[in-house]
Amino acid sequence: PRLFVEADLGAGGILTLGKDQSLYLAAVLRKGVGDEVVLFNGRDGAWLCRLTGDSKKSVTLAVVELVAEQTKPSDLWYGFAPLKSERLDYVIQKAVEMGVGTIQPVMTQFTQVHRLKTERLSANAVEAAEQCEVLSVPLIAPEIALGHLLDGWQDAHGDRKLIFADEGAASSSPVVALEQLRGQRLGLLIGPEGGFSDEERRKLHALPFVVPISLGPRILRADTAAVAGLAVIQAIIGD
Ligand code: SAM
Repeated sequence: PRLFVEADLGAGGILTLGKDQSLYLAAVLRKGVGDEVVLFNGRDGAWLCRLTGDSKKSVTLAVVELVAEQTKPSDLWYGFAPLKSERLDYVIQKAVEMGVGTIQPVMTQFTQVHRLKTERLSANAVEAAEQCEVLSVPLIAPEIALGHLLDGWQDAHGDRKLIFADEGAASSSPVVALEQLRGQRLGLLIGPEGGFSDEERRKLHALPFVVPISLGPRILRADTAAVAGLAVIQAIIGD
């Protein structure tokens, strides 16, 4: 198993896990003294650790050796209009699996979810990072209104291009548009279930840093569009 911890990791270190992770290791996975587990914290790489105490309330571990050097966090940015419960969990999980570095909730005119449980989003991102073996957990940025995001884009993001998944965009292949963006810093913006309003679409189309793309002739659900868009980006320009 691989677990994310906040603590610093380094050879010779000793650490004690909190209640939930201790219960998970000792009771769910039935790990005991002498068993091994890999820990990472997003800063120090992945470390092989050995259990030295296996109480269900507090497992203690000795940090043994570095098994993977820390990698640079991904630069890929993903902005999305928050969806309802399970589908929100799904897009967070898939964004992490698809190698996103920053996850940005964006409030739009037709966004249906207005109160976000940031802790739940972060917990999902951590769980997905543990599962898919990335060494950095993506940042979950505080929610932002679409207008503010666009007005402040160049100050906040410099020359990053914003790929706008637009079901109304000319239906040439996204591959052609993305090929032109090789080597550039990128973000992907996906709308809510009700889509972007006409006013929002007009504004997006008028901005020089926005690149509208079609993901095909069918209308995809927002969660499907997120996975499709990130997959195309990673296939063409990902590393
Ligand atoms: N306009 C629609 C509506 O009124 O419900 C559809 C919105 S769609 C369910 C949600 C989001 O997924 C869209 O805002 C867009 O970002 C993305 N999307 C869905 N299908 C797409 C496609 N074929 N090409 C590009 N983006 C798409």
